[in-house]
Amino acid sequence: MKKRLTATTFLIVLVALLVSNAMGVWFLFNQERDDSLESLKELLILMDSQSQITNAQAAAEQFRQAAPDKRLTIIDTDGTVLVDTDADADSLENHASRPEVASALATGWGEDTRASDTVGVPMLYVAKRFTDGMIGRASMPLSSIDSLVWRGAAGLLAASVVALLLVLALSRRMAQRAVAPLGAVSDALSSVLAGSAPTSLDAYRSDDELRPILRYIDKLVERLGDSIQSLTSERDKVNLILDCMDEGFLLLDEKGGLLASNRAARELFGVPEDSSDLSGLLIHTRSRRLREALEQCHSQKTQVVLDVDDLPLPGRSLRFFLSPVSGQQYEGQRVGTSILLSDVTELKRAEHIRNDFTANVSHELKTPLTSIKGFADMLSSGMVTEPADQKRFSSLIGVEVDRLIALINDILKISELDSVAIDQEGASAPLLATAQEVAGLLELKAGEQQVTITVSGEECTAAISPDRLREVILNLAENGLKYNRPGGSVTVTTACEGDHAVLTVADTGIGIPPEALPRIFERFYRVDPGRARKAGGTGLGLAIVKHIVALYGGRIQVDSQVDQGSTFRITLPRA
Ligand code: ADP
Repeated sequence: MKKRLTATTFLIVLVALLVSNAMGVWFLFNQERDDSLESLKELLILMDSQSQITNAQAAAEQFRQAAPDKRLTIIDTDGTVLVDTDADADSLENHASRPEVASALATGWGEDTRASDTVGVPMLYVAKRFTDGMIGRASMPLSSIDSLVWRGAAGLLAASVVALLLVLALSRRMAQRAVAPLGAVSDALSSVLAGSAPTSLDAYRSDDELRPILRYIDKLVERLGDSIQSLTSERDKVNLILDCMDEGFLLLDEKGGLLASNRAARELFGVPEDSSDLSGLLIHTRSRRLREALEQCHSQKTQVVLDVDDLPLPGRSLRFFLSPVSGQQYEGQRVGTSILLSDVTELKRAEHIRNDFTANVSHELKTPLTSIKGFADMLSSGMVTEPADQKRFSSLIGVEVDRLIALINDILKISELDSVAIDQEGASAPLLATAQEVAGLLELKAGEQQVTITVSGEECTAAISPDRLREVILNLAENGLKYNRPGGSVTVTTACEGDHAVLTVADTGIGIPPEALPRIFERFYRVDPGRARKAGGTGLGLAIVKHIVALYGGRIQVDSQVDQGSTFRITLPRA
């Protein structure tokens, strides 16, 4: 627009200058011609006034001196040329028929402009009838008028060029000023569209023509700003909700193409936050089951729940809730399915452990019950008649019942531990005193096993409930006795190490083979099931210990050598 305004102004001025220059040249030419005619006339009048009788030769001489650049011709009344300042009079033909001469003969004055037959250039002629009837004709070449006119025209042209340059500069400035408010309006609108504060239009408010337009634009900008702001805040709200969700969310179109996703979904599939390549989220292209579920959800218009663990996410199980969406659009595209997905890996693992545990518990309960039933059947059948045998069978039933009770107790303990997240906050128990108390409880059993049990070290209060600490020490010390040999020992030591209370239970027993070490904390795992069962082990002691220690933020380490003994070291936070 700026260029168009400048060019139009320039063109208008150019045309105006051309027209005015042409007219100027025309006026100049007429003026010069009139002036020249006047001067020729004055010369002829002067000559006529000097004598009554015309002396042609003297007049020519006088004329040559007065006006060397002009020509004088004296013509007799019959048209014969008597003298000519620029030509030989004898060679000239009769001039009576020359228009200016004919007119002078008839009226006293005559004038003409034409190419001269004598000198062959365009001439301006003026003829006067002198007092004695002779014709005096003064003439001059038109070229001398033209050169004067061209000199004037050159001046005009130079002035026009300067004027045009000025016009060019001024018209550019004018165009710039005229267009500036439009530029400001466009800047204001684009900043509103970009979501930032509109640039001020105040500088143009004083322009009368622009005031109403600016008023409308102001209103428009205000409304646009409000709408964009409310849309932006709505969008931010939705995005915030979606991104705060722990569950992944995907929105697919009718063909299964991805329309939208949230942070959790991108994290689940390892797509970087700022990545524009979301092909990693097109999971249905990688799982046949998911593809089928999508089709089912779409065709039957029902929600489909599906657990998938064959996605390219090693060791992860995801649960997909696929819901059909119809009649909705997202950014101009029809939505087909919404997918909510949650990572159920931990849930599945816990479920798996629970299932294993239930199977193991059933098996473990069945073993003593089968023995009890066998002994009871034999007793009731009357096959065992000897009182000594009856007593032995009854005591075997008692042993199996004790084992059953111990097993049920341990199962109850582990189930209880499974259900607590934080145990008694602010609890504390003295390590040394508790260890001594446990050693006292085990003294009888130690004597039976011919194993000595000693407790030593410094007192240190651990952040753990006294009952739980007792349970831990009892399990570890009992194991030390159970998996020992006559003459062996169990040594319990306690110490404070910085922020930690440390308990060590070392025995000189049978030790644990290295390949079994990583498994001894598993529920119902036993290195030697026969020996463990005979010793009254339930296979749950170390699982309970590990569980309790973890519950109080502690750590357990084990060091063992077959036939040499084992050392369990427990570190707990100090109270
Ligand atoms: P259990 O009730 O059978 O003793 P635990 O969970 O306490 O169950 O122990 C698991 C297994 O670890 C035991 O069966 C035993 O084989 C082994 N074990 C535990 N403590 C010791 C130890 N001090 N010395 C040798 N083996 C041990």
